Amino acid sequence: MAQLTLKNIRKSFGKAEVIHGIDLEITKGELVVFVGPSGCGKSTLLRLIAGLEEITAGEMLFDGRSVNNLPPKERGIAMVFQSYALYPHMSVFDNMAFGLKLAGSGREAVRERIMEAARLLELESMLDRKPRELSGGQRQRVAIGRAIVRNPRVFLFDEPLSNLDAALRGQMRVEIAKLHERMTDTTMIYVTHDQVEAMTLADRIVVLRDGQVEQVGTPMELYLRPATRFVAEFIGSPA
Ligand code: ADP
Ligand code: MG
Repeated sequence: MAQLTLKNIRKSFGKAEVIHGIDLEITKGELVVFVGPSGCGKSTLLRLIAGLEEITAGEMLFDGRSVNNLPPKERGIAMVFQSYALYPHMSVFDNMAFGLKLAGSGREAVRERIMEAARLLELESMLDRKPRELSGGQRQRVAIGRAIVRNPRVFLFDEPLSNLDAALRGQMRVEIAKLHERMTDTTMIYVTHDQVEAMTLADRIVVLRDGQVEQVGTPMELYLRPATRFVAEFIGSPA
């Protein structure tokens, strides 16, 4: 059974509809990439899944249960954005602990979760450092760590690498692929407008165009059998 089901999801802002009836099923543990040009509705769709925006029509199910009226906090979702603001005066450990403490976890539980996240992200030796003592890539890993410690069922990434230079972007792509391999039960939805990121990271790619799904498939399927010229051009298939 699908973990996450979208049924004819629509979203309007005022009179303008920007998501025009999206159907999609995502399986637990999958890494699904939403790809498409700027303005096609990728971020809006993520925000609808996170519950940060209300859907205008349609139905969204988690594990077969409607979440249409479930507030973001109860969805078991964590989101990583492109701009990651770490607290400069706090250590890596405290940066990761901050949200958990607010959520009322005990000291031992907080420590355990942070050690686990640090192991996954290879940050064990950096827990006492301040953000300014870290490289850009390490800081990005701390930002991801802050989300991991909350133990989400679904991880949403909205163009997390688009502010980084090309070398670091390549390195972080590898980090995210490793993370996906290690967190086998955690579903990841990754938004990008970068086809290289999509092709290298995704189990499945959802190509979005003007608020609609243009095609869904594995990177190889889209490359070898693009359904439309738009997909072919976007993915860079041979003509
Ligand atoms: P993407 O992330 O693919 O670049 P977005 O989801 O940000 O695209 O935007 C999709 C469309 O919805 C755009 O036309 C954008 O202007 C519009 N939009 C997004 N958020 C809002 C909002 N809060 N109010 C009005 N229009 C919005
Ligand atoms: Mg966006």
